[in-house]
Amino acid sequence: MSVGSMWHRIFRINSVNEQEVVKEMKISIDREGCIECGACEQTCSEIFVVESGQKASIVRKYQKDVPDVGEIPDTLVSCANEAAASCPVQVISTG
Ligand code: SF4
Repeated sequence: MSVGSMWHRIFRINSVNEQEVVKEMKISIDREGCIECGACEQTCSEIFVVESGQKASIVRKYQKDVPDVGEIPDTLVSCANEAAASCPVQVISTG
């Protein structure tokens, strides 16, 4: 095996491992208590959406079968926590 192909192989293995390292965190909204204020979406629109006249939902990309439960990548944990802190009725749970 040439040095070039060996480095190529090592690089590919590292790339695969980096993709596998992404962790996910559970997130949920107790929609019964949601007052539709929109603060979560204003704080973190990557995860939350509040359509006119409706309770908050998790964006479809991160939903787990239902609109109020999801899993997010670790890159969005701080965004989710800031949104949870912004909720005036504290109906967003993370972790
Ligand atoms: S911040 Fe809380 S109350 Fe406001 S829309 Fe989001 S989940 Fe509902």
